[in-house]
Amino acid sequence: RREAFGFIGLGQMGARMAPNIFKDASIDELIVYDVAPDAAKTVISNPLSQGKKITVATSPADVVKHSKKVLTMLPNGKIVSDVYKTHLIPNTQAKTIFIDSSTIDTQTPKDLAAVLRSKDALFFDAPVSGGVNAAAAGILTFMVGAPTAEQFQIAEAILKNFAKSVVHCGDIGSGQVAKLCNNLILGQVVQQPHPWSAHGRRVEAMLMGTRLGVDPKTLAGIFNTSTGRCWSSDTYNPFPGVLPNIPSANEYKGGFGSSLMLKDLGLALDAAKSVNLSAKGAQTAHDVYTSMVKDSNMGSLDFSGVLKHLDTTSPK
Ligand code: NAD
Repeated sequence: RREAFGFIGLGQMGARMAPNIFKDASIDELIVYDVAPDAAKTVISNPLSQGKKITVATSPADVVKHSKKVLTMLPNGKIVSDVYKTHLIPNTQAKTIFIDSSTIDTQTPKDLAAVLRSKDALFFDAPVSGGVNAAAAGILTFMVGAPTAEQFQIAEAILKNFAKSVVHCGDIGSGQVAKLCNNLILGQVVQQPHPWSAHGRRVEAMLMGTRLGVDPKTLAGIFNTSTGRCWSSDTYNPFPGVLPNIPSANEYKGGFGSSLMLKDLGLALDAAKSVNLSAKGAQTAHDVYTSMVKDSNMGSLDFSGVLKHLDTTSPK
C-alpha cells in the first residue's frame, strides 16, 4: 500500500530530515508545511526527492487531512502546543500516528498524547541528537517516549528512515527527559568550566591555546588523541577552520541556534528543579548563553559560536 507522509517544520533540521522518508518504499508522497513560504525548496531540491511527489500544504490542517503519519520538527513547546491544539488535533483522522521530534518540556507530550488517544490517534515524543549533518544523512539518534514496547515499534518503523539509532526511553515524555539530559551535557561541553568534566572548557581551551600561539588544528589533534577528546573537539570543533563542513567553518551559520540551546538549558534547569537537583554547571552554561543571545545579539548563530562570543567579550 502506498501512502503520504506529513512533515511540519522545515528549518535547519526538518528540511534536511524530511527527504529521508523516501527510503521507505511504501511512501510515495511527502506533504510538507512551514510558516516560512520558501522552506520547502530545500526538500524539493534534495536528491532523495527526485521523481517523488512533494505537496506543499497551505496549513497544518491540510497535512493531517491527507496523511496518517505526521512528524513535527518545530522550534519550541509553545509552537508545538499551538500547532497541535489549534490545527492538528481538530482535523485528525482516527489511527493517525504523530511523532514530535522538537525539543520541548516533558509535560506537553503527555497532554498531547492523552488528547490524541481520545481521538484514537497515537502521539510519541521523539527528540533527536546529531545536528544538521546527521539530519541530512539520516543518521540521527532518536529518544522516544512510548507507553508500551508494541507502540514503540510503531514509531521505530517510521523513525528508522531518519536514524542510526532509535531508543525507547520509557513512557511518553521520557524522550524529552533523555534529550534534556543530553543537552545539559552538550551546553557545557562546548563552553563551560565544569569542574569534574575532562571534556569541559572546550571553547576556553581552544581560545587560550591559540592566543598563546599553538595552531588550532594541532591543539584539536592533541585533544582528540588525549583525555580531552570529545564530540566538540573531534566532530564539531568550535574553532573556525579546524574542521570542514560544520557551522564553525561557515561563520557559525546553519547549525543549532544559540537561542535554541538557551531554551534547552532553561528546560533542563526546570527539569532539574522539579526533582530538587542543584545543577550549577547547567546554570553557568545558561548564564553564558543568555549573555550570548541577549547582550551579544548572537542568538541566530550556531551554539558553537559561543567561542566568538567569548572571544569578543574577552578582548586580548
Ligand atoms: P529552526 O528554527 O531552524 O526551524 C524551525 C522551523 O519551524 C522554521 O522553519 C520555522 O519557520 C518553522 N515554524 C515556526 N513556527 C511554525 C508553525 N507555527 N508552523 C509551522 N512551522 C513553523 O530550528 P531547528 O534547528 O530545525 O530545530 C528544530 C527543533 O529541533 C528545535 O526544537 C531544536 O531545539 C531541535 N534540535 C535542533 C538541532 C540542530 O542542530 N539544529 C539538533 C537537535 C535538536
